[in-house]
Amino acid sequence: MIRVSGGKALELLKSIFTSSSKNPEFESHRVYHGWIRDNGGKTIDEVMAVYMRGPNSYTGEDVVEVSCHGGLAVTREILGLAVERGARLAERGEFSRRAFLNGKMDLLKAEAILDLVSARTGRGVNLAASQLAGSLSSSIGRLRSELIGLLAEVEASVDFPDDVEPPAIRTRVESVRDEVEKLIATEGAGRLLREGVRMAIVGKPNVGKSSLLNALLGEKRAIVTDEPGTTRDTIEEVINIRGVPFVVVDTAGIRHPRDRAEEFGVGKARAEIAGANMVLLVLDASTGLGDEDKVILEELSGANVVLALNKIDLGAAISLNGYGNSCPQFKVSALLGTGIGELRDGIYDLVVKGQEIESAGGSPINLRHRECLLRARDALDKALAGCDGKCYSDLVAVDLKGAIVALGEVSGEEVSEEVISSIFDRFCVGK
Ligand code: GDP
Repeated sequence: MIRVSGGKALELLKSIFTSSSKNPEFESHRVYHGWIRDNGGKTIDEVMAVYMRGPNSYTGEDVVEVSCHGGLAVTREILGLAVERGARLAERGEFSRRAFLNGKMDLLKAEAILDLVSARTGRGVNLAASQLAGSLSSSIGRLRSELIGLLAEVEASVDFPDDVEPPAIRTRVESVRDEVEKLIATEGAGRLLREGVRMAIVGKPNVGKSSLLNALLGEKRAIVTDEPGTTRDTIEEVINIRGVPFVVVDTAGIRHPRDRAEEFGVGKARAEIAGANMVLLVLDASTGLGDEDKVILEELSGANVVLALNKIDLGAAISLNGYGNSCPQFKVSALLGTGIGELRDGIYDLVVKGQEIESAGGSPINLRHRECLLRARDALDKALAGCDGKCYSDLVAVDLKGAIVALGEVSGEEVSEEVISSIFDRFCVGK
């Protein structure tokens, strides 16, 4: 689909589109069938075209959308024609940026669109959709208007001390502060569901790392492709465990073990582990613990490690002799699928348990929100310190204002150009 936004969008459409309709006057929000023709009248494609008069469009401006048959050459030709007639190519996230600037959506919704497009599991999609539907916007909006109300009362009593009683604000500020604190606590869950857990699979050659990875991927195998222009540019394998994406840290050896020298370097393991949140160490259960295994286990002490004792179908000769005692261990057979469910649970429990992702409710926050909310909380703490029952200083109003500004930054009511750019630059072209 080719989308054009701006005051001259309809004019442009008319200049390249020949409608098959008897009445070719474009009504807003109606689909028209016809042909895109070039300067010489040559037909480029048969298409459907829609004109959406602003402000009832995605960007809030006049928008036209042309659904063509696709294919690189066709879309390029139509785009080229549009550019010839005065359009220019959109920048990353420009449609959404315009929608934001025209008041069609707040920053939280824009970020939800980004999350939706890059979600790795169904649960990630639900989370983003809930934020898109406004769950976080309305929580933040409610807290902010509560504070604006409080500020008005405080200012009235400061400006007219003889006429207006100082309002009792402590409990109301406290309750807003508590809600801000609860939102801050959802950040860990948000990060887990959005970004996932990076998991390195480590082990000697031939212990069954690739086989185990395939068994873990199971039916839910998900390979993220590297489409140009999307936010991710590497191919990652994602194991979906109860909706949390476990991103397998890319090691060339995992996919093509036989292409690699049959030597396991501790240095390589180190590098893999440094970039990961956890390690799945695969050992061969049918043989004893080798010296290399011991070195790796020593190397890993202190890290988040799950031990998979693989090839249990061939026997359980392995004895850990005190190595890796504190790590959860699972006897599995990648070949037969034995113990894979338990291993999945063990991996999940190691890093996700206790993160309250179940109780995080609709929309856990992200790092940017957290930073703003921390400032809001600090300002509210100062306001609380400055008010004692009914008695407070003028400075309380300043602190309340600080909290209101910080909450406004979350939703985008009060936000710098720099922050706006940092968000929309992460979008891909066409969003
Ligand atoms: P990697 O080098 O660690 O990635 O190991 P692979 O996954 O390529 O497995 C090496 C060999 O072990 C292959 O022939 C697999 O079929 C075999 N293998 C993997 N897991 C098991 C298992 O659980 N039981 C048995 N019997 N063989 C296995």
